[in-house]
Amino acid sequence: MPLTVRPRRKRSTRLIVTLLSGLLPVILGSVILYMQAERTLQQSTAHTAEEALRQFDLMLDNTAQAARQLLPLAGQPCKSVTLALREQVTRRPFVRSTNLVWDDNLYCSSLFGEFSEPVNAGDYAQGKLWLMNGNPVTPNTALLIYRLSEGRGGALTTLDGYHLSNVLRLIGRDTLLLLQVGDNWLSADGKTHQGALPSLPVAQSMRDSSHYAFSVSAGFPEGETWRYMSDEYPPLFSLLIFFGVVSGAIGHIVQKRSTSPSHEMLRALEAGEFIPYFQPVVYGDSKKWTGTEVLMRWNHPKEGLVRPDLFIPFAEHSGLIVPMTRALMQQTAALLGPLSSTFVAPFHIGINITANHCQDLELVEDCREFLSAFTAGSITLVLELTERELIEPTDITRQLFEQLHTLGVKIAIDDFGTGHSSLGYLRKFNVDYLKIDQSFVAMIGIDALSRHILDFIIELSAKLDLGIVAEGVETQAQADYLTAHNVNFQQGYLYGKPMPAADFISALTHH
Ligand code: C2E
Ligand code: CA
Ligand code: CA
Repeated sequence: MPLTVRPRRKRSTRLIVTLLSGLLPVILGSVILYMQAERTLQQSTAHTAEEALRQFDLMLDNTAQAARQLLPLAGQPCKSVTLALREQVTRRPFVRSTNLVWDDNLYCSSLFGEFSEPVNAGDYAQGKLWLMNGNPVTPNTALLIYRLSEGRGGALTTLDGYHLSNVLRLIGRDTLLLLQVGDNWLSADGKTHQGALPSLPVAQSMRDSSHYAFSVSAGFPEGETWRYMSDEYPPLFSLLIFFGVVSGAIGHIVQKRSTSPSHEMLRALEAGEFIPYFQPVVYGDSKKWTGTEVLMRWNHPKEGLVRPDLFIPFAEHSGLIVPMTRALMQQTAALLGPLSSTFVAPFHIGINITANHCQDLELVEDCREFLSAFTAGSITLVLELTERELIEPTDITRQLFEQLHTLGVKIAIDDFGTGHSSLGYLRKFNVDYLKIDQSFVAMIGIDALSRHILDFIIELSAKLDLGIVAEGVETQAQADYLTAHNVNFQQGYLYGKPMPAADFISALTHH
């Protein structure tokens, strides 16, 4: 069925819609995967930062214990406490050196023994921790000093930066991990830096220790999210591309299918696929050709020739029937107009018109244009209005039929006997012909009731002085009956089937 076949939108539009329907799942999926990757990286840095924090807290616990044990010794002569200082260094895994302070002066060291160096509490974050870039013994090697003081005395224990950078490296692995103490920070390469922590562009997590004055920052360098995705998600990407292809294909198919019948017909109209077929109408007595009925066919590129009852209802519904009929009239005029000088008596050309077409006066213009293609007086244009769709009489229709009448256009009531037209109706629209529906003709010699109706219609048309056309004449018996009853015109397969223009024109010249 041609009307289920989809419309042709513009090629470029179709291509764009297909591309979009293919790209949409890929883009949406990528966004979701990107967000998922960010979440995973964020969880990973949070976990790494917490783990590092725990390790540093443990190491500092150890260092702080040494300081606590040594603090009571502060103020005692250096000689008597050196051993205790060195014992802490030996026994504690992370403690590198221990020192005692009295009146802000470092007076005794596990390394040098008797010593003297001023201690400035301001160097220490919260007075407790100082991350420094080495000392005279090991310059450029990070050192974390823990300070404990009480009254005039104090103890300083130092934690070797080597252990700290080890933790940063081992726990951090692929993550960038930094330790900050006051204004200084330590990176995994063991170097100390001064100033604010650099911000880590991807998934940065910061944690402050609740026990000591330090914080830890973990994160990734620029581009890590994409790197992570390209490492971890190739199967998911393949799936996305698969969905993209499927969705693109569905988009393509849906576009091919889902166009409305009117879209498809509009396309066909523009492509000139609606063409006229011609069926001869003959005189009831001589059987000579007196005219033709123009019947629309859809020359569909895929479905072939389509019968009008399959598409005319859609065309009426969408209002496209008006431009379609206009195009049909133009084609008919172009095909038959050049022959018109050879017509002896006025040749009847019947065009089927729907009630839709009678809503305004445009039809008058269409008929005027049609007639102008023929030699004056060479044809009689007959508009066939089916009795099943009666036209509502309004001011417009009154004007319309008056103007058509003035133009010399005749009106035929098609399928007569199947609808409900009244005498008043026939008069109001100045009807000239009745076309007896083929169902009555088919019943000649078969069904007595139908034959009575047929006889009645013939009688009625004679009384009203209307021309009468019998449609669907297929047998000689039907033809004889109609001739015997003085039916003016006959039309049917007996005389000729609807045929394409070329066949009709060549047959016409023989008649
Ligand atoms: P219709 O106006 O009653 O046209 C007569 C129909 O009977 C045509 O069918 C014709 O092919 C068919 N016919 C003619 N002689 C015989 C016969 O001896 N035996 C049989 N069985 N059939 C015969 P078609 O061409 O299929 O058209 C069907 C209907 O479609 C038409 O009925 C008409 O209502 C509509 N139609 C056709 N062309 C147009 C058009 O251009 N505009 C409008 N609005 N409707 C049209
Ligand atoms: Ca007709
Ligand atoms: Ca008919």
